[in-house]
Amino acid sequence: MKFCPNCHLTYDDSANVCGQCGGPLSVIPQQVQQQAAYDPTDHTAEFSPQDISDNKVFAMLPYLMSFIGVIIALLAAPSSPFTMFHIRQGLKISVTQILLGICAAVLAITFIVPIAAGICMIILLVVQIICFFRVCKGQAKEVPIIKNFGFLK
Ligand SMILES: [Zn+2]
Repeated sequence: MKFCPNCHLTYDDSANVCGQCGGPLSVIPQQVQQQAAYDPTDHTAEFSPQDISDNKVFAMLPYLMSFIGVIIALLAAPSSPFTMFHIRQGLKISVTQILLGICAAVLAITFIVPIAAGICMIILLVVQIICFFRVCKGQAKEVPIIKNFGFLK
């Protein structure tokens, strides 16, 4: 890839002069190109477009229906890597919600814990909605908060 140092426009390797100002183009080093495109949390490119379009519906279920959705998705699309990615992520959210629920129930007397657990639940609900819409767009991105939970890699 090449770019114009004056206009900051990028061009194909086949281009020789800038279409905007007519000036000479510089070559962008390969390393910089890769860094710009690399997003460690975005796994969308690892899945085939066919897989994504065929199994989108099943990939949504873990976020919509929690454990029931996970089971349906496992039965419906066991060979879909895209669905598996979202099953894992959906499971992480569901398991965390249950743990929070248990903490809140056991430590109900402390008041602070149930309130903190409630806030975390709301955050997780928002995360779930974000995940759901990402599936709608055919993306497979890790959610920052959820990603940090080590279990179920
Ligand atoms: Zn230019």
